[in-house]
Parts: sequence; C-alpha cells; structure tokens
Amino acid sequence: MTDEEAYRYYNCRKWKSLRKKILARDHYECQRCIARIRSAAQTGETLKPADRHIRKAVCVHHIQEIKERPDLAYDEENLISLCHRCHDEVHHRSVDDFKQYRFTKRKPVMTEERW
Ligand SMILES: [Zn+2]
Ligand SMILES: [Zn+2]
Repeated sequence: MTDEEAYRYYNCRKWKSLRKKILARDHYECQRCIARIRSAAQTGETLKPADRHIRKAVCVHHIQEIKERPDLAYDEENLISLCHRCHDEVHHRSVDDFKQYRFTKRKPVMTEERW
C-alpha cells in the first residue's frame, strides 16, 4: 500500500463511520490510558501526574497495521480508541508491548473484589 492509498483509505466513508462506531464502543476513553492506570494500581507503580487520568480518545488505531494485515483493516477487534499521546507512543514503541493491552482492556474494572 502506498502512502496515497493509505490516505485515501483513511478518508473513505466506510472508515469514517467505523471509526465513530469504535470510539463510541470505547466510550471515547483512551484504552491505553485505562490499561496504564489499571496496571499501575495493581503493581503500585507511581504515575506522573499527567498519566493519572484517562484521556479522551481521538484516534482509532489499528493494532495490526494495515500494511501487514489489510484483511483486518475493518475488523473491530483490530481497532482500539486512543488519545493523541498514547497514539504517538504506540507508533514509537514495539507493537508487542501494545498487544497486551488488547487482551486486558475488556475486563471490567469493578470486578476485582477480594473475598
Ligand atoms: Zn491515552
Ligand atoms: Zn495508529
């Protein structure tokens, strides 16, 4: 896929409506912020003040890149809502690190009761 094709892809109608759907599914909350705060709560790690709240999701990111998996381009399981900062970060760090978030994000926060 060339850059121009990728650009066209991102602007097509199908993508725009799917993007909205994913943001609504994730309640416009950055899923990586949620994962970061949750894991810090579990490990006792201290977060920087800017990292202590869930930022608003503005980007929909492909967990498996379109270039590598064009077949997953419209797969809702391959899409995740992110804030600007997290989106920048995932594009600058290893994909494997990010994949973990995918599998932890669906667990509801409130079910961690200890008996
Ligand atoms: Zn974020
Ligand atoms: Zn992305």
